[in-house]
Formats: sequence, structure tokens, C-alpha cells
Amino acid sequence: MIQISPSTQCPYMKTPVQDQYDVLVLGGGPAGATCAALLAEKGKRVLLLERGLTPRFHVGESLLPKCYPTLKRLGLLETMKQSAFPKKYSVQFVTEMGKVTKPFYFDEYIPHESSQTWQVERGDFDSLLLSKAAENGAVIRTNAHIMDVLFEGQRAVGVKVKLKDPEAGDEVREIRADLTVDATGQSAVIATRLGVKKSDPLLKKGTIWGYFENALRDEGRDEGATIIMQTAGKSSWFWYIPLSNNIVSVGCTGSMNYMFAGDGTTPAEVFNRELAKCPEMQRRLEPSTQHGDFKTTKDFSYRAQQTVGEGWVLIGDAFGFIDPVYSSGVLLAMASAEMAADAILDGYEKNDLSPEQLGRWNDNYTAGLENFKRLVYAFYAPQFSFGDFFKEYPEYRNHMTDILMGDVFKPGVDEIFDKMGDVIPPSDVGEESETVIA
Ligand SMILES: Cc1cc2nc3c(=O)[nH]c(=O)nc-3n(C[C@H](O)[C@H](O)[C@H](O)COP(=O)(O)OP(=O)(O)OC[C@H]3O[C@@H](n4cnc5c(N)ncnc54)[C@H](O)[C@@H]3O)c2cc1C
Repeated sequence: MIQISPSTQCPYMKTPVQDQYDVLVLGGGPAGATCAALLAEKGKRVLLLERGLTPRFHVGESLLPKCYPTLKRLGLLETMKQSAFPKKYSVQFVTEMGKVTKPFYFDEYIPHESSQTWQVERGDFDSLLLSKAAENGAVIRTNAHIMDVLFEGQRAVGVKVKLKDPEAGDEVREIRADLTVDATGQSAVIATRLGVKKSDPLLKKGTIWGYFENALRDEGRDEGATIIMQTAGKSSWFWYIPLSNNIVSVGCTGSMNYMFAGDGTTPAEVFNRELAKCPEMQRRLEPSTQHGDFKTTKDFSYRAQQTVGEGWVLIGDAFGFIDPVYSSGVLLAMASAEMAADAILDGYEKNDLSPEQLGRWNDNYTAGLENFKRLVYAFYAPQFSFGDFFKEYPEYRNHMTDILMGDVFKPGVDEIFDKMGDVIPPSDVGEESETVIA
């Protein structure tokens, strides 16, 4: 087993950059790195600009099996297999009554190596993707803060960027390209600039999370499982994501006002208050010690109302993000990056870089996003029980497994929602509704 370590500290922080490229990719997370790698592999002149230094910390450690095809296309499967990232074979749920339910073992449903995935330290994983982009010929410049996207009329023509250099001094540059791919994650630079980033009023959530050493782990193939635990009364839920070096990532999510009431309660107090309502998590954390402080984030569920335009396209979290409960973010980031890269490459072939061509994948992708979102709504619906649902409709357990594995673009997978009835609000209800799912 090799340990992927941050041995190549900030290799891209001083890369010289030119004034003109085919494609600018903004942001060096899984979306940006994947897109840059696939475009550069086919000979496009790509510049990826990332404001952080690599490896940089990021929440979002649990992958889904459907990352497999993209990892394979990137030529990273062997590296992943050889890595120290824990192997994830399943996801398991613990109910608000404390009932530990049968895990969803992905390889029982699809007996293939692609049914196993990984739990990753994102600094290391994202660096791996960036290295692949660099290896394929993309120019990577970290320590580069996008200040603005340059438009001529409706057309995006490049960026204004601050290239930071503590020794030589910062430099503000304008860099131009045929196309700008926005992969700036929750910053969503273009959607924010255009005022089209709309948060989901039904999913106003907040999260407090931390890292614990020596927490109780299951054994064998359950050791790397993600466990989702509801608290009593469903006031919040916990994730349990086992990482390497005997560290576990544990996060608690609830409605924003409940988690961050503004009454002076500290994140640690809220976390411990919720922990007291989750005996299974208490049991697992009992022997552990916390590493570092609690971290917080909130109001992370949103969608860009316009996702493509002349000379620009959004991918990953810059396109939208739903909710952490099903660990969908990295999969969606990589899937959208791949779809966008293919549309761009095809567009160059056909000499058609119109918004229609750049965004030809948007409808299919949005349908997949909706499948995750509707399952998220069901998870939060107070009156809904997955246990009762599968007692009545056992034949839909496979649809659920498909979605939990990330196979959200599969035709017919949405049939499960026809049976869920009223607990799933219509997909456009979020625009106007004042209702917040608790
Ligand atoms: C609480 C929580 C828990 C989560 N848990 C999971 C999980 O278990 N599994 C999972 O798959 N997903 C999870 N996610 C989601 C996941 O973290 C994201 O979906 C994923 O990181 C998206 O990848 P991305 O490449 O689109 O964006 P990011 O990974 O956020 O990358 C965007 C990059 O853009 C850079 N950037 C931003 N602004 C600028 C700028 N102005 N100039 C230059 N660079 C810029 C940032 O530094 C960053 O590196 C979670 C999210 C939250 C909020």
C-alpha cells in the first residue's frame, strides 16, 4: 500500500502563465481538475487557476461507486487501488429510534469491482486529480485568485486574476480564452456575478463537523462504510466517514436556524447536544480524541438558474449543490466535468462553441441532480420512513441502491419517486415556497 502524501508541496504556485489559452478552468477541485485533464489530454491549451495552495483542505470525503468510470478514463484507478484510502463497500443508516439497518452493499447489487469506492482525504485526492491534469499538459497555477470574469457584451472572454507571489509581489493580469469553465465550487464566481445563484429554500441547512482519532470502527468490509445516523426526533443527522490513519470524519447537519441559533451556543455545544440524542454515534466516539476544532458551514444547497452562456459553462458545485447526506458532490463534480469536456471537445471538432453545444448535457445532468434532490427531500420529510416504504414496495430497493451508488442518470431510476407521493415536493416548489423541511 502506498500512502498518497502531500510530498509535492505547492508545485504550481509560481507557474508562469501566458495571455491567451483555448480554455480557462477556474478552480482546482474535482470538477476543475477533471475537466482540465480531459481537455488537455486531447491537445487543448488549458490554464487552470486555483486560489488555494495544494494540497488544500476540503470537506467531502466520501466517494460514490459511480466515480469509477471517470477515474478509469483519467487513468487513476491503479493509483486509487494502491492508495491508503479506506475502501468503501456500502452505506448504512441508523434510524431515529437507534435501529441499525442492513447496509446497502453495492457489490451485492452489482458484483463488479466498480461497486467498491473510497473514503478520501480531499487534499490528497484533489492533488492527485490536479497532477493528472498537469501530466496531460494543462498549465496549473495555484495561489491565483479570480477577481472577475471579463465579458464583452454577453460573451465571456477571459478573467482578471491576482497571481500571488510573496517574494516577487502580487501581479494582477488579464488572461483571455475561447472558453471559460467555472469550477469555483460554492464561490460560484460566474453565477454570483450574474446574480443567478439561488439557494434552495427547502434545504436551509447548517453543518458542524470534526475529526476524531481512535473512534470505534466496524471490521472487515464494513470498516470503510459511510454510516448516516438520525438523531432522536430527527432534529439532525450525523455522518460517520472512516478515513486513513485511524481518523473518522463526523459531521452533524440540521436546519440552519436550529444549528446556528445565534444565542451564543458554540459549535461544540451544539454538536454535543445532538450527540446526546444519538447513542450509536456516542458509542463510536466514546474512546476517541478530537483532532483540531469543529468546523462549520451553512446554506450550501443552491442551483445556478443559468448554467451556460456565450463562452462560458458551469460545472460541479459552481453549477449547484444539493445536500451532503448522500455524498453526491464529488461524483457530480466529476460527472459534470466529463460531460462538459466532451461537449467542448466535440464543439471544437464541429467548429461550434455555441451555448447550445457547450450545455448539450445540461438537461440530462439536471435530471440526475433532481434524483438526488428528491431522495434528499424524502430523507428530511418528517413523516416519511424508508423502512415502511420498502416494506410496502420492496421492488424499489434497487432503485434506491442505484441512487446511493450515484447511478442517477440511469433511465427509469426516478420511478421510485412515483410511489413516494406527497412527501416529495414537486421539483420547482423550492422557488417560491416558504416551507423549510426541518
Ligand atoms: C458539509 C458538507 C459535506 C460534504 N460531504 C461530501 C461527501 O462526503 N462526499 C462528496 O462527494 N461530497 C461531499 N460534499 C460536497 C463536495 O465537497 C463538493 O460537492 C465538491 O467539493 C465539489 O467539487 P468542485 O470541484 O465543484 O468544487 P470544490 O471542490 O469546492 O473546488 C472549487 C475550487 O475553486 C477554488 N476557488 C473558489 N473561488 C475561487 C476564486 N475566486 N479564484 C480561484 N479559485 C477559486 C477553491 O479554492 C476550490 O479549490 C459535502 C459538502 C458539504 C457542504
